[in-house]
Amino acid sequence: MIVVQGSMPAYEIYFHCAECGREHPIHLKIHLDYGPEQKQSLAHFFSDRAMPPQATILRGRKVFCLKTGTTLKLDNDDQIFLLPLPAQLVSAEK
Ligand SMILES: [Zn+2]
Repeated sequence: MIVVQGSMPAYEIYFHCAECGREHPIHLKIHLDYGPEQKQSLAHFFSDRAMPPQATILRGRKVFCLKTGTTLKLDNDDQIFLLPLPAQLVSAEK
């Protein structure tokens, strides 16, 4: 039996790294009832709507810079990005 779970888009999470100025994935995937169609920061996307718990838990998360080896904390919604996963976009309901 195949159960199709609607079309909750999945997002890979990236952060803008203050140490090296690049963006790194934090290797965490979240699902949102409704999310951006292209890469967008939390601050931008949730500026006019409530942020769900699976997004708010990203705040204060400890992340690792692969380039400098520094551990950072995600303090700012501007530095956290949602990147839609392509497979989910293809299968998304229209
Ligand atoms: Zn970095």
